[in-house]
Amino acid sequence: MVRFTVLASGSKGNSTVVSSGSTRILVDAGLSCRELFRRMKLAGEDPETLDAIVITHEHSDHVSGVAVTARKLGIPVYFTEGTHRAWMRWLTPRRQMSYAQWLEQCRRQAAERQAEAEAAGEEGELDETDLVAEGEAATAEIVAIAADPVPEASTVAKDPAWLPAVEYFQSGVPFSIGDIAISPFTTSHDAADPVGFVFQADGVRLAIATDLGYISPNVKAQLQAVDLLLLESNHDLEMLRDGPYPWSVKQRVLSRVGHLSNDAAATFLEQDYDGQAAYVILAHLSESNNLPELARVTAERALSGRASLLANRLLLACQHEPLSPIYF
Ligand SMILES: [Zn+2]
Ligand SMILES: [Zn+2]
Repeated sequence: MVRFTVLASGSKGNSTVVSSGSTRILVDAGLSCRELFRRMKLAGEDPETLDAIVITHEHSDHVSGVAVTARKLGIPVYFTEGTHRAWMRWLTPRRQMSYAQWLEQCRRQAAERQAEAEAAGEEGELDETDLVAEGEAATAEIVAIAADPVPEASTVAKDPAWLPAVEYFQSGVPFSIGDIAISPFTTSHDAADPVGFVFQADGVRLAIATDLGYISPNVKAQLQAVDLLLLESNHDLEMLRDGPYPWSVKQRVLSRVGHLSNDAAATFLEQDYDGQAAYVILAHLSESNNLPELARVTAERALSGRASLLANRLLLACQHEPLSPIYF
């Protein structure tokens, strides 16, 4: 049996559980670990049985709980390399320093290097065996850390980006976790390497496509022949225009790397969607620039324009509570 449970959706946090008979994947972890676990239990999902976390992109509403959750469960996190790097930079930002401080740091480092060189000179040159031994020691240490499911508090304090295991995937290259096949596809969004996913298990195909400035031809192609479509319907254009966001943020949301409007989602449903999904779930609704009823009516109008699509059940994902699990 395949199950799809949206735990949260919107700019304050996104997370969904995709389950097959033997594998359970958390897609994004944009709530605290405690809140994710609470919602999973509310929806009848057991957090302890999660096998992995997969991440769409590094924005905080998709990753804020990932490190704590992965450490607590001792499970791997799947990222693209670009997203993982961006996430690490976000967690460990470089300290800003003045030019004078930078010069001082350079002087100190030069002095340290010189002192090291002098010390090495006294001990005699390091020979190749020493270098190999040093390299091996360093590798052994990394392996030891990676193999330890419960890190020392000091490990985490030293490295807030520490995870039990990191796996890289590439957009456009399918991979599997347990018996769930995953096809990641590139989305147009202002993140390092953002993706959406199509999950396939037991012949059921489930698509997640949020955080999209627009639906590119590639995304359109990915969203065909799916049994469930979670699609962004972020804002109403008029509400965004007249709403509280500063002009620069409005421009960002509206841009080709921002978020999908109700109208853009409806245009896709009307013109490009093949109508095969049993469920269409509108997601990532803005609380400032949208109303659930507006999003629903806009999508319903688009679907009802095509009589053959009336069988599609339309649901709305919420920010503050999980949706009931959907079973296939
Ligand atoms: Zn988001
Ligand atoms: Zn985003």
